[in-house]
Formats: sequence, structure tokens, C-alpha cells
Amino acid sequence: MSGRSAEEKQTPRAGGERGMADMHLHTLYSDGTAEVQAILDHVEQHTQLDLIAITDHERIDGALRARELIDAGGFHFEVVVGEEITTRRGHLLGLFLSERIPPLRPLEETIERIHDQGGIAVAAHPMAPLTPSIGRRSLLRVQQDTDPAHHLDAIELLNPSAAGRLRRHHRSRLNSELLELAALGNSDAHALEGIGSGWTWFPGVSAEEYRAAIEARTTEPAGHYWSHWHNVSIYGRQLIAKARHVRHTLRPTGEWR
Ligand SMILES: [Zn+2]
Ligand SMILES: [Zn+2]
Repeated sequence: MSGRSAEEKQTPRAGGERGMADMHLHTLYSDGTAEVQAILDHVEQHTQLDLIAITDHERIDGALRARELIDAGGFHFEVVVGEEITTRRGHLLGLFLSERIPPLRPLEETIERIHDQGGIAVAAHPMAPLTPSIGRRSLLRVQQDTDPAHHLDAIELLNPSAAGRLRRHHRSRLNSELLELAALGNSDAHALEGIGSGWTWFPGVSAEEYRAAIEARTTEPAGHYWSHWHNVSIYGRQLIAKARHVRHTLRPTGEWR
């Protein structure tokens, strides 16, 4: 459940009043370049994050592995199980999941499946042109749906990847004028040095306090955009990691869940 002991619970690692969460990270289980253990060690030693989520594409086995390692102790942050799900309208983050959600289903159905598990549905890098992203019309459509089970809970307003950088002002304006969703920052990191380059400030430090902040709309996105060279370097390493990822996927014990 938790990587911290009870007496440490109330103190954000960055100091001050608020905790830092980076809830969009990829591992070797999808198209990231780092092992789960290396990510946890990096977060512990080189960041001030209080909370992370592992959100591999279309799978949660890497995130479940992270939870096992965290539960064994020795870390001063919490891990939430997530998945970046490719819906028919673009990428959607499901946070606080216990089961894998299948890709390529309608957006409304996918949001409902996240809520059925008690999870939170987040529009990942919405309106970004270079990667499958939920567009303006779909964002408005689900928020105006008469069934609240189809409503998004939060939106990534800051995602430092090349895709997330484009149209960021349109995205912020759409949210402040029409959607009024909890505003998040996430790194969408595919390599260790990207972790924590985007984050969300929230009152408290724990996963449950993060959830409460989303509900109360008291989150605040923050972060730094990546340089062009960082993006190019990640892309190169992703190609190399691909070969290892295929081995992961085909390994008998590494089956998709
Ligand atoms: Zn994405
Ligand atoms: Zn992603």
C-alpha cells in the first residue's frame, strides 16, 4: 500500500505544504527504457516526488510489480497502479486500477470501466497532434454526457513531451472556460532522467490525498518542457529498448494481464 512509515506520512519530501505527484511513467513493460526497479530507485534517490503512477500502454503488470517492490519497504513515496489506454478517441490514463482495461474501445465505455474499478480517468496530452490524443470535441462530448460515469476526472495540462508541448495554451483555455476538470502535470517519462520533469502539486502527500485533491479541484500542474535533443535521444533509446520489450512480452511469465 505504502512506501513510507506512519511518522513520515505528513511531510512532503519537497518541504512546504504540498506534495508532488508524477502519475504518467512508462517502463520496459511498454515503450519505456528503464526497468521498474531502476525507476523506483531513481525516484527515491533523485527526486522529491511523494507519489508516482506506472502507466504502461495497455498493461498493468509492470505497475503491479512496482507495487510489490514498494510494499517490501525501503521507499519514501507511494505507487499507484495505472494504465495508458488507447481508446478509439485517443490516449486515456486510468489511475488506481486493479485490472487491465482493454484498448480500442469507445471513450465513454473505457471511462466507465475505469470508474467501475474505483479508478480515476485522466485525458493524457489531450489535443496533441503527434500522438493519439483525445480531441476538443470528444472532451466536450463526454463532459456533457448525462451519465456521470462517462465524465473525465482530470486533464493533463502539462506534459513535457514534444506532443504535450503543442497546443498547451488551447488546452488550458478549454479547461478553464468549459471543462473545469482537475488540472494535472505529468512527465510521461520514457527514461529515468525524464521522471519528475512534469508534476502535480496537491495538498498532502498520500495517494488518498491526491484523489481527494482531484475531487476538490485543488491540484496544480508544474514542470519543464523537454529540449528537442532530449526527445531525439529518447526516441533512439526506445528503438533499442523495443527489442528487450519484445522479449519481455513473449516471455511465458510476462504475459499480458
Ligand atoms: Zn500517450
Ligand atoms: Zn504516455
